[in-house]
Order: sequence, then structure tokens, then C-alpha cells
Amino acid sequence: MTTLADRKRALLQADREAALAEKRRQLRELGAHDLLRQVDEASADWRKDPRYKPGADLSVGFVDMVGEELKAAMADLGASAARLESVRVVTTLDQAVSAQMTPFDDGSGLVIVADGIFGMCSSYCQYLALCADKRSHAASRPTAFWRVLRDLGKGELFGHEDVLTALLRYHTTHQRALAASTQLGVRLSPEGERYAWQLSHLAYRFVVGHEMAHHVLGHSSGPSAFAPGERLPACSADDRRERDADRLAFQATRRASERLSHGRWETLGMRERATMAALMAMMALHVAERTLFVHHGGSHPPAAVRTGWLLEQLKPGKQQSTRRLLRVPMKATKAATDLSEHARPFSWQALDPDLVFSPMPPSHLEAIGEFDAMQCETEAFHVSWLERHATADTAWLGEGARLAAAGEPAPALQRWGVDAGTSRTLCDPRRALTFFTLKDHITRSFTERGIAEQWVAPHALAASMLIARRVQPRRAHLAQDPDGGGPAQEPPMPGISPG
Ligand SMILES: [Zn+2]
Repeated sequence: MTTLADRKRALLQADREAALAEKRRQLRELGAHDLLRQVDEASADWRKDPRYKPGADLSVGFVDMVGEELKAAMADLGASAARLESVRVVTTLDQAVSAQMTPFDDGSGLVIVADGIFGMCSSYCQYLALCADKRSHAASRPTAFWRVLRDLGKGELFGHEDVLTALLRYHTTHQRALAASTQLGVRLSPEGERYAWQLSHLAYRFVVGHEMAHHVLGHSSGPSAFAPGERLPACSADDRRERDADRLAFQATRRASERLSHGRWETLGMRERATMAALMAMMALHVAERTLFVHHGGSHPPAAVRTGWLLEQLKPGKQQSTRRLLRVPMKATKAATDLSEHARPFSWQALDPDLVFSPMPPSHLEAIGEFDAMQCETEAFHVSWLERHATADTAWLGEGARLAAAGEPAPALQRWGVDAGTSRTLCDPRRALTFFTLKDHITRSFTERGIAEQWVAPHALAASMLIARRVQPRRAHLAQDPDGGGPAQEPPMPGISPG
């Protein structure tokens, strides 16, 4: 029987072949020939894979596999067979989603995860692998890789908070500017590569597992005002439910590994990795939700809260060492979500070429840095930028900026040429809205109104920042201090300067 979730899934299955053709076109245009070659090699390999289906790409095959692993693990844990049979999983290129479980009126449910979330998880996992590589290198005598990983928990990570922050900022800035999910490469040993891949797989399993858990646990939600017959995503401000979904996802992530591992040592190693992976996944979602969205349909509790819940499930000794391991990734997470004037924007020149690499041309890497620097300017700067560049013919640029800064975002958008209906929709806090979508509307409007081509991008960015600051709702959750201290203020929201 075809359920409503099946139908929605089919609709969301973007035509992956078309998306790949578009990506190849972009890469050619950017002159990223090395990356283009890698993409072609990967898709040739995928065509030979037994899981290959026309119109589907590697991520579709991967997410199907993760869904099956989780269903088997949750069945072992005693989840209802009927609930497991009625849940589907899909990965989407749609940027307006991070990860969510949408329940339907016929009792079916659909887990939707954006492609970009996997990239974000993998940045964290590659960083951890880099730490392990460095530690193994620094050891005076050859050390087994698994021992290095165990020992990492005894001391601080090797540091290089700036590397992780840069990996994350590069990714989020890319998505904010271009709606494209692209990562920097991390230089790893073959063993480090294997570890990073395993960890990413586990992190992704946890992300999907959390959403699936909402369905299995029967967490329903209210009907959506925008899509009749569909209900709002299950992730909510209800801490009890989020905590229960996290707990089941964590158990299922570990259980799925136990099913695949041989022997006690392998199982122990996988359990340890599953813990780290779940923690990285929580931070990845935090960064995505705080930076890619102006407002979000349903969001997860802050990473500091969720990691605290997970740590409580560990033995006291393990809690302490894991807390130490988390210190640097947590600091980087906080730094990556800071879009205030106190932020340190992405800078390709500041990075150590022995640690990271990119197949993209230097001009592109510099442009990403310039975009990040511009978005981290103050509201006053963005207003004066648009005022300064306004001429007698384009006085509306500065007028819109002043309206936005006065707390009138919808009239500001109209002043910049966005039609009234769209302006209201963009400012409706109940609708999910990505920063890129907002910027895209403004870009089109500025282009239509004859702004010179070289000025469209910086002007649209300044304008989007002015709007984003003013339409962001207050977060329902109070965050805890990411360093593990007592309750503190939520880290500054994108585009909002502290104070
Ligand atoms: Zn949730």
C-alpha cells in the first residue's frame, strides 16, 4: 500500500541526475577541474554499485542503507513492528530542511534529512581524525591507532580550534552565499580517512535515528497551516520528547554497530565511536540550524543541552574524559555560529596548508572569505554601506536600509522592490526560511532594478543581513554554557550582535 509518506518521499526525490549536471556546470564555470574529475570518478563508481538506480545518486543509496540499519536495530530494542514499517527516510537537496520527521494523517511518517547535514557531520569527524593523526604522529614510539583514540580522551584534543572553525564557517558561508554544500579537505593518513568515514557514518545514523525515534515513540504534532494533510515536524520545544528521541537514537546507533561487528573488542571500539559520533552530530545540527536559517519550521535543542543529556548516560569516569574531548569542538561550534562583529571570519590565507586543502581556485576561496567578513559587520555598517552606495536614482537602497534598522523588515523589502505578498511571507516567523532564499529574492530585485552587476552581491548581502537581524524569533530554549558550566545565555544568533 502506498502511504502519504511514500507519496511525499517520491515528490522530494529530487532528480539527482539533473542536480549532478548542474553541479558539474558550476564547477566548470569556477575552473575547479580537479574537483570535477573527482565528482566524475565518484559517479562512475556509483553506476557500478549494486544499489545503483537511475535518477538516484550515492547519497540516496547511503540513506536507504542507514534507514534499514536503524530499523533492524530498533526492532532489536523492542520498537513496534507497525511503527517501523510505516516510517520512510529520504535525503533532500532542499536547503529549507535540516533534519525532521513529518507525521501524516494516515499514521505514516517521513524522515527528511538535507544532503548538507552529512557534509557538516563529516567536517567534525574529519577534525577528530586529524586530532588522532597528530597524536599518533607525536607519540615517541609507534602506537596503535585505537590506543591513540582511547588516549585522546585523557587529555585535551590537540587544539587547532581554528581549523574546525574554518571547516564549519567555509561550509555554512557557502550555503548562505550559494546554497551549495561544499567542504574543505582535511589531510589525513589512510587510517585517519577510515576513522573519519566510520565516524561520519555513525553520526549520520544518529541524525536519522533521532527523527525516526520520534515516529517510533509516537510523538505527534499539530497540523501544518501551509500544507493540508501534513503535520508540523515532530521536533519541538518539548525537552522530554527530544531527550527520549535522543536516547533511543543513541541506543539504536550503538545497537546497529553491534549487529555488524565481530568480537568483543570491535564492539567496544564501535561503542566508543558511536558516542563521539552522536555528540558531533548534535553540534553539526546546531551549526546548521543556527546559521543556515533565518527562521526554522522546527528545531532541535541547542547542542550544549543535548550533549549534556547524552553525557549523563555515560559512566562518571567516561563522562569526564568525554567532556574534555568535547571542549575544543564546542568552542569551535560557538565560534562557527557567531556572525557578530566579534566573529573571526573564514580566511583561506590563515589556514595551515599542511592540515587542509581545497580543489577550488584561490579566487573562489578568497570570495568566500570576503562574503563571511561582510556578513559579520554591524547593523550600522550595513545601513551606511547601502546609504553610501545610493545615488539620486537609487535612493531607495538607503531608505530600505533605514526601514529595516527601524524594525520594519517587510516594508524595507518592499522598498527594495520585493512584492508585498512575498515580503510578508519572508517575514512570517512560522515559515521555514533559509538565509540564501532571502538573499536570492533581494538579489533578483536589485538586478531587475538595474544595480550594476559588481554591486549586486555585496548590496544584497548587506540588505539580507539587515532583514535577518530583524525577523529572527527569540529561541525557546535556554542554552547552557558550551564549556560545561552553568546556564548561560544562548550563543549569539546569526546576525545578532550581543547586547
Ligand atoms: Zn527532535
